[in-house]
Amino acid sequence: MTVSIWRRSMTLGVRSCDVAVIGAGICGLSAAAALTRRGLRAVVIERHSAGAGASGRNAGFLMRGAADNYWAACEQYGREVARTLWRVSEENLAMLRRAGIERLGSYRARPSCLVALTEDERAQIEKSAALLREDGFATEVIGAGGGEAPSDSLWNGALARSRGAMGLVNPEDACCNPVELVEHLRGLCGCPVLEGQEVLGIDDAGSALSVRMTDGVVNAGRVFIATNAYAGLLVPELAGVVTPRRGQMLAIRAEGRTLAMNYYANHGSEYFREGYDGTLVFGGCRVHREDVEVGYEDRPTEDVQGLIERFACEALGAERVDVVARWTGVMGFSPDGLPLVGSLGRGKGWNDRVWFCGGFTGHGMSLAHRTAAMAVEEMLGGAAGPFSLKRVM
Ligand SMILES: Cc1cc2nc3c(=O)[nH]c(=O)nc-3n(C[C@H](O)[C@H](O)[C@H](O)COP(=O)(O)OP(=O)(O)OC[C@H]3O[C@@H](n4cnc5c(N)ncnc54)[C@H](O)[C@@H]3O)c2cc1C
Repeated sequence: MTVSIWRRSMTLGVRSCDVAVIGAGICGLSAAAALTRRGLRAVVIERHSAGAGASGRNAGFLMRGAADNYWAACEQYGREVARTLWRVSEENLAMLRRAGIERLGSYRARPSCLVALTEDERAQIEKSAALLREDGFATEVIGAGGGEAPSDSLWNGALARSRGAMGLVNPEDACCNPVELVEHLRGLCGCPVLEGQEVLGIDDAGSALSVRMTDGVVNAGRVFIATNAYAGLLVPELAGVVTPRRGQMLAIRAEGRTLAMNYYANHGSEYFREGYDGTLVFGGCRVHREDVEVGYEDRPTEDVQGLIERFACEALGAERVDVVARWTGVMGFSPDGLPLVGSLGRGKGWNDRVWFCGGFTGHGMSLAHRTAAMAVEEMLGGAAGPFSLKRVM
């Protein structure tokens, strides 16, 4: 976005801090909190309002691991990397709990369940359960051939019965209203959050970096970029690395229907859970329209919304559902599905002073808080974390 001369005269002036954090989603606010804990002065700069990005629009699953099962992750990344991903997501929730998330009104300790509806996925779930146990992760298999499934609108419905559904349970997972989580993190970050301020550029100003934003400038020793899907708009080198992908969701009136767990089905393609005030929320179906669900446009499409509605009807055994809200969010996907953390190099006079953390590939609720803290440690000279940007740049 360009800035008119009239706007520039409404300047916030020049501020100084140790680290300027760009983006007030879960990642940026968590990074700011980690910096404050280290005694550093941070300033968070957000172009809209805190949580305006994916962080305030997601399904609110605080889930261990990734959308697909552990066996699939071991196949894709190798056992050690998969184990690390699962561990980081467990640490993420543990850290959030220590940070007081259980006191949020919307927080629910609630298992997640990967529901397999095909023979192939059932086989993967059984292999996943064995691998998880070997690696020391608590899990349980329910439904066809496993333990007893809960009595709720999914397991009592026609879909689960007709397709012989089997579930892989993460017993220690949780969920919350992500907007409440963002507000909580904002309260923890202990530094100014400048909203309505788009960062337009980062310049070398000698001993400091000069972060130009809509109404002023922040001079900072370091810059931590947490703009996730929008990273390529600020740093063109990241455009081919972090891809903006749209996720769509809807909420329906529940009419006495319940869901005892937070569910993922069809290898994580569809996800659903109880909302608040008598709703159920459903999302996903993006994998059926991968070519279209790319870009920055915040607009639900009839096509994908129709697919989600159809899935909701199928899952609940209903002829139709009463949709009360529809929305979208833009996620930052990395090339291999793992987060990205690292310095953006020595060019432009940045001299390893500008760092990026993002690319959570649809799992920032489960990964960003812990990953941002590890990124801050590494930026300040600590040990390198597991998700180095160098693997793709
Ligand atoms: C529909 C949907 C469902 C999802 N469900 C889940 C789920 O259940 N569980 C889960 O773990 N994850 C889920 N996710 C993913 C999760 O929401 C994201 O991974 C996470 O929110 C990313 O956080 P972030 O802080 O990195 O990015 P964002 O929340 O997108 O924050 C980036 C911020 O940067 C700001 N910004 C961008 N450019 C600039 C600039 N130039 N200057 C200043 N500010 C700028 C943006 O306005 C935005 O606020 C879902 C995502 C979507 C869209």
